[in-house]
Amino acid sequence: MNPQGLNIDALARRWADGPLASWAPLLAEQVAEGLSPERHGDLPRWQAALDALPDIDVAAVHLDRGRVGAEASAPLAPAMREALCGALQGLHPWRKGPFELFGLHIDTEWRSDWKWDRLAGALAPLEGRRVLDVGCGNGYHCWRMRGAGAAEVTGIDPSPLFVLQFQALQRYLRDAAVNVLPLPLEAVPRPLPAFDTVFSMGVLYHRRSPLDHLLALRDCLRPGGELVLETLVIEGEAGMTLVPRGRYARMGNVWFLPSTATLLGWLAKVKFRDARVVDVTVTSTEEQRRTDWMRFHSLADFLDPSDPGRTIEGYPAPRRAVVVAKAP
Ligand code: SAH
Repeated sequence: MNPQGLNIDALARRWADGPLASWAPLLAEQVAEGLSPERHGDLPRWQAALDALPDIDVAAVHLDRGRVGAEASAPLAPAMREALCGALQGLHPWRKGPFELFGLHIDTEWRSDWKWDRLAGALAPLEGRRVLDVGCGNGYHCWRMRGAGAAEVTGIDPSPLFVLQFQALQRYLRDAAVNVLPLPLEAVPRPLPAFDTVFSMGVLYHRRSPLDHLLALRDCLRPGGELVLETLVIEGEAGMTLVPRGRYARMGNVWFLPSTATLLGWLAKVKFRDARVVDVTVTSTEEQRRTDWMRFHSLADFLDPSDPGRTIEGYPAPRRAVVVAKAP
């Protein structure tokens, strides 16, 4: 693995003989393009932050607890701790987590561990499975999947900052079976019936064509493989869907918020089997909030101050459902 924690040649070799063989030869160019400086003006600054991470000997890695991270054999000297903290803060905003590196708690905007706790018990066991996490952000849940026994986890996310955050963690967690690639789902060759479990969490409502997203996810699953879908929903009967006119909770790119019954209908329509809702939770301002590691506005600023059951635009406040289903 190179110092930045992405070794694409090794990954391409690893995939060369198996069901991911058709993707392997595309990787080097896709990754180079996904992280090319033209993609984001801040990339050189983020890259410098990554390069500034200090060398620290890792005594233990923890992937099976809320705060994913690493421990050193002895407490860090103050100067070392400051160098670590400064470099990681150079990758602000940290949205998904939490992480803990050598006693330093990265208190992220989201308690992503709460989402994990709500869904982990409802999945087909991940032991030995090949997993794809679509829209994985910085890869927080990818580590949890690996911690739950997955043989190999591949996350994809088009945001270069989140991929660099992953690389910062990989610098210390060093696990060749966990990779986060700077790509959208649309870059994955189709069909690629290679994955035993495919996650899409927090992505569907950002898609203008949600059924096409479901079809693209289906094309990544082996027959009988499991889809884990998490998305914003509304209360209501089959057939009901909210299409916000403008923004939703200040987000500009929100298209379809189905009721859970509508969502199950969409899954049946594209031939997923045995779809079931395993959790519905209203997002709280404890689960998504401003912290020292995400200093911009957060959920509390996006809700109606006089009615926290509504967004600032007057829509129902964020409510998220997790659905699991089997590929045909
Ligand atoms: N799955 C994580 C992060 C959700 S945030 C979680 O549940 O906590 C949604 C992420 O989807 C963002 O990081 C965004 O960059 C990514 N995304 C948006 N469009 C995408 C696409 N077409 N393919 C893959 N990821 C996408």
